[in-house]
Amino acid sequence: MLALVPSGSVKDVEAAAVAAEKGFSEWRRMPVSKRVQYLFQLKKLLEDNIDDIARTIVLESGKTFIEGKAEMVRAIENVENACGIPTLIQGEFSEDIAQGIDEYMIRQPLGVCACIAPFNFPGMIPFWFLPYALACGNSYILKPSEKVPLTMTKVIGLMDQLNLPKGVINMVHGGREVVDGLLEHPVIKGISFVGSSSVARYVYAKGAANGKRVQAQGGAKNPVIILPDADIDMTTQIVVDSVFGCAGQRCLAASTIITVGEHSDITESLVESTKDRKTGFGLEEGVLMGPVISVESKNRVNGLISKGLNEGGKLLVDGRNAEISGFEQGNFIKPTILENIPLDGELAGTEIFGPVMSLVHIQTIEEAIQFINSGKYGNMACITSSGLHARKFRHEAEAGNIGINIGVAAPVAQFPFSGWKESFYGDLHGQGKHAVEFFTQTKVVIERWLKEWNRKF
Ligand code: NAD
Repeated sequence: MLALVPSGSVKDVEAAAVAAEKGFSEWRRMPVSKRVQYLFQLKKLLEDNIDDIARTIVLESGKTFIEGKAEMVRAIENVENACGIPTLIQGEFSEDIAQGIDEYMIRQPLGVCACIAPFNFPGMIPFWFLPYALACGNSYILKPSEKVPLTMTKVIGLMDQLNLPKGVINMVHGGREVVDGLLEHPVIKGISFVGSSSVARYVYAKGAANGKRVQAQGGAKNPVIILPDADIDMTTQIVVDSVFGCAGQRCLAASTIITVGEHSDITESLVESTKDRKTGFGLEEGVLMGPVISVESKNRVNGLISKGLNEGGKLLVDGRNAEISGFEQGNFIKPTILENIPLDGELAGTEIFGPVMSLVHIQTIEEAIQFINSGKYGNMACITSSGLHARKFRHEAEAGNIGINIGVAAPVAQFPFSGWKESFYGDLHGQGKHAVEFFTQTKVVIERWLKEWNRKF
């Protein structure tokens, strides 16, 4: 056992909402240039403690140390980006929209906002929202995943050193009861959710029904098309890293790898590279992949591999029954490749969220794009090619994050994290200018100035 955390209830949501509402009244009055000073300090705090936070991520989620550190780098980039909010939050002004009348738009914070986070990036995902919410003048409630409660407990503990006004940042642990409490609480005005599509849809519908602004990022089933002119070494590296990085537990993990045309060389290269990938404890040198999050997850992924076999797929690399010396009870599945699952079968449309590559072969790019666009998710789609087809793909593929010779098309902090279809419910995504839009409401003012009046009323 690593630690015990309290399992929160509706009462804790109530306490957090009351505190956040009080905190908001002071925080929103602080000039934005002062608010971002706290973020400059937060950046330094995260940088100074990055190894410690990354170690906590490894211990509670099973990632490797490099992966834990990389996600905190992404978190810090979002803090840096939110430091630009004094400019990003500026309004608009039109003088003389009629004679002597001016009109302008200002952005004001929503109020109390909350984040409901998934398990797979315990440190990064809250930072797609939190720094923007704070810089825009909102107070915040964070609910980490109950599967990984320690990372953000550590981060929020560190944030005590910032001496933010009381109530500006709050955390409640727990599961469904706490989520419902957040979705029902009248003080909470905005909800940012990241997790599976079924829960995203539920959160979006319930939050909206309760009058809240909601952005809800859901699941994924990400394809990569490999064209005959693709560079085999580069393609092998980015595909294998994308499929097996974070043990396949990334919403931007490639899952279905589609070769177009001749495929024997790339198949061989993918198989060799997959077999070489070292699986084990994430703090050990040379380990590239850790376990999946839980025994339930391990059983589910093994079940999906069996489903692929029953549907007619063939195992090119079998990662089941992995034995990692010293970690016999661990939830390890080694990298696995299933070839030729049927494109109209159940597995081809199911999010696996584990280290399994489905490798399929299609004759033309048109058929490959048609297959991709027939799927229900739209989080990411990638292509490896040296030529013109990549542009066609960018134009036609129905996904919000596109990779061209990139295996994990993860938008940096300045860009919105743009899932489509069942990978996203809402209008405004996390990160970038979308975050400023999400965490502010516009107010339009029309003013008439006495001395400018030139007609009688
Ligand atoms: P999950 O949906 O099980 O849980 C996410 C959050 O919802 C957790 O905080 C959990 O406590 C809460 N929750 C779970 N079940 C609930 C229910 N029935 N009612 C109310 N709340 C509930 O997701 P997870 O397993 O933690 O994360 C993995 C999923 O997240 C994958 O589907 C992955 O693709 C997705 N994900 C998507 C993105 C993205 O940007 N689109 C990013 C990361 C992860």
